[in-house]
Amino acid sequence: MGTFFRTLFAIIVIAVLGITVLIFWNMESKVPSISYNEFLLSLDNNEISEVRIRGGEVTLTDIYDRQYRTFVPDIAGVLPKLSEKEIVIYGQSDRPSPLWNIISITIPVALILLVWFLVMRKQGQGEGGSDFAKGKAINFASSGKQVTFRDVAGIPEVKEELLEIVDFLQKPKKYSKLGAIIPKGILFQGPPGTGKTLLAQAVAGEAGVPFYSISGSDFVEMFVGVGASRVRDLFQDAKKNTPCIIFIDEIDAVGGHRAAGGAVGGQDERGQTLNALLVEMDGFGSDETIILLAATNRPDILDPALLRPGRFDRQITVLSPDVKGRQQILEVHTRRVRMAEDVELDELAKATPGFTGAELASLVNEAALIAGRAEKDAIAKSDFEAAKDRILMGVERKGFVINDKDRKTMAYHEAGHAIVARFMPETDPLHKITIIPRGKAMGHTQQLPLHDRHVYSKEYLKNRISILLGGRAAEEVALNQRTTGAEDDLAQAIGIAANMVCKWGMDDVIGPMSYSQGEAGFLGEQSTNLTFSEQTAQDIDHEIRKLVEGCYQEAVEILAREKDFLDQLAEILLQTEMLDKEEMDIIYECTQKQMKDNKENSELEGDACQTEFPA
Ligand code: ADP
Ligand code: MG
Ligand code: ZN
Repeated sequence: MGTFFRTLFAIIVIAVLGITVLIFWNMESKVPSISYNEFLLSLDNNEISEVRIRGGEVTLTDIYDRQYRTFVPDIAGVLPKLSEKEIVIYGQSDRPSPLWNIISITIPVALILLVWFLVMRKQGQGEGGSDFAKGKAINFASSGKQVTFRDVAGIPEVKEELLEIVDFLQKPKKYSKLGAIIPKGILFQGPPGTGKTLLAQAVAGEAGVPFYSISGSDFVEMFVGVGASRVRDLFQDAKKNTPCIIFIDEIDAVGGHRAAGGAVGGQDERGQTLNALLVEMDGFGSDETIILLAATNRPDILDPALLRPGRFDRQITVLSPDVKGRQQILEVHTRRVRMAEDVELDELAKATPGFTGAELASLVNEAALIAGRAEKDAIAKSDFEAAKDRILMGVERKGFVINDKDRKTMAYHEAGHAIVARFMPETDPLHKITIIPRGKAMGHTQQLPLHDRHVYSKEYLKNRISILLGGRAAEEVALNQRTTGAEDDLAQAIGIAANMVCKWGMDDVIGPMSYSQGEAGFLGEQSTNLTFSEQTAQDIDHEIRKLVEGCYQEAVEILAREKDFLDQLAEILLQTEMLDKEEMDIIYECTQKQMKDNKENSELEGDACQTEFPA
């Protein structure tokens, strides 16, 4: 890119110089001009001492030595008059001066030469020319960083499929002998952080072939045509080094729908780049063992042309790992760290549902940092806990002062979530409650699924809504107040309720319909975009409201019933700021016992009263 800018700069400098020369050239005409009449008047008044005539253009010097210029339409008629008055006359050719001639010829010629030069260079690049548009392709195989399949864990099916690819690359003959056509393009798709980039690097490491890696965003440049020429260069290079792998990371940057909106200019550039890519993909034959890998987390926006047979016809979906996968990934990432005896990776894997590979990697690193700060010799279980809290909930906001009233509200709010969660059947078990503000959230009640859930029942979702509303419900039941603290809870609860009614067909009145607006998340759920009548819209509104209100009522009932437990839990939470499941169980048992004692006591006292104060 550097050279390109340098040449551009040179062009600009030359243009500026040329313009400057022109301006100087015109300086001569900076002499003030007068009208022909004025000229004749001065002539009659004998005020002119000298004239310079150039065509019809006359520059005159008067007797006071001032200069003017004018245009004389009939110079031949004026000339006799001038000589009659004995004015000094200088004649000048009206053709441009030689200097002007030279400049006016050299500048365009220089520009033409420059452009020609640039074009030549650009063409020469294919044959190993300059770096003008050569991509930032990195050859991983030759750089020291070697990633192998040993570094990728938790996605066995994907690994298996890729081992096949490695085999193609190492023994292409084995397959071509049988007449098999080696796949050209493999597209990794999946949410961010699931190891797509890592997988591609591992394939290169295992196959031991040159690996050209480039990111989709590198193709999209300011100048139209640069992206396309980079694609061509990349393939040209690759063809000289077969067998090899080309890896295009984040291909959605170039491969987005060509038709989809956007400014015309940018669209053009992207379209050109994509076209170049398609042309190149079709251009290499099956005798050339080039395998094209690409990764995206937005497969839904890819241009269908890319996914046609013969292009990226193999698509591998990489999803977040399950418990076993998480354990294996943790094993990979804890290979290099020193851990205390009390760390159980299987437990840790269970406690991190939904974590992607990247999050697990950062969990291990974060734990190591926390242990390091405490000057420990090894990473303990508590460090992993702290690291998890930090990743899930953000950094603890130390020194964030909350007044007592707000703290009390928070304690009741979180206790509310926790208690509703505890007494609801079919929910995820409670993990931890805290009123330490972290990140954006003021408090937090954490539930952990027992298993990775893939399918949610209506019961589970309803209970989830009740738990979300439990915070607000507790504030109402115990403190008789409504605060803004429930904002996120409410939004989440209503989101779930809306999906239940409109998307998952769980409502009796609306029936098994799906009105989802199809705001595609990962792997773009098919959008249905059913239009519906005013009446249906009203029904939907009504049903969502009914659902949410019912769940809220349920939460209120539980909390009213367990009011003593709620008070107790909030009280203790105010002191300890954090409670886990075991501690909550103990508090519950104590509350039960206390209530029983109180009841017995009050009965006794009642009796005592009666005996002491007989009517
Ligand atoms: P993606 O490209 O899918 O967004 P990356 O490949 O960049 O994700 O993953 C980021 C990091 O997360 C990797 O460098 C690696 O440390 C870790 N990681 C992700 N998935 C795995 C996995 N399956 N096994 C081991 N490490 C993983
Ligand atoms: Mg990536
Ligand atoms: Zn809440």
